[in-house]
Amino acid sequence: MAHVLIIEDEKDLAAGLRDNLEFEKHTVAHAATGAEATQALAQRLPDLVLLDLMLPDADGFDLCKRFRDAGHTMPIIILSARGQEIDKVRGLELGADDYVTKPFSLRELLARVSAALRRSAPAGAPGSTESFRIGERTVDLRRQKVIAGREELPLGYYESEILRMLHQNAGQAVSRADLLERIWGAGVYPADRTVDNHIVSLRRKLEPDPKKPKHILTAHAVGYKLVV
Ligand code: CA
Repeated sequence: MAHVLIIEDEKDLAAGLRDNLEFEKHTVAHAATGAEATQALAQRLPDLVLLDLMLPDADGFDLCKRFRDAGHTMPIIILSARGQEIDKVRGLELGADDYVTKPFSLRELLARVSAALRRSAPAGAPGSTESFRIGERTVDLRRQKVIAGREELPLGYYESEILRMLHQNAGQAVSRADLLERIWGAGVYPADRTVDNHIVSLRRKLEPDPKKPKHILTAHAVGYKLVV
């Protein structure tokens, strides 16, 4: 069972894909434009993306590159009416995992989806960087959740990405500027307190006493530091 994001502007095709994926017990989100895709990705990180190349407001190649540049590692399968060799090579070079030319048989596509999910499965296994302990709690970045005893607390997209970066640098201070640049993107300037507000929310989910944090520490005049 996986969460699949379909980025496809042909409504009938998207609906057919959704039905078949749901029949196989996957959950599905659908985006018909590049803008919707960005929104869907921020809401919930998919385990796999089906990506059409020709969208009304975006080029699938650009989206693919943007996802990879943002550090997303989920499998991406490109769906396209273009069958030329040069496009396939370009798609694979930009970080797509597989490429299916329309019209394709649904059975073939579903087989490719299963294969791609199998190949990517170890990344979500316990002990990997997608799942780690902070104090008594477990963070599962793949499912965007904090597991606290029997309770599961959902993490937002930015919360997950902040945690991912703090965990990669555990024990060291990470500056607000680095967090902003790596997660929001160079040249994007959200409100001053944006990072701090996400940290407040993360502390509520991860700290036994959010007012006296033991894990997500403030590094004075710099940023934040994770102590697992
Ligand atoms: Ca299209």
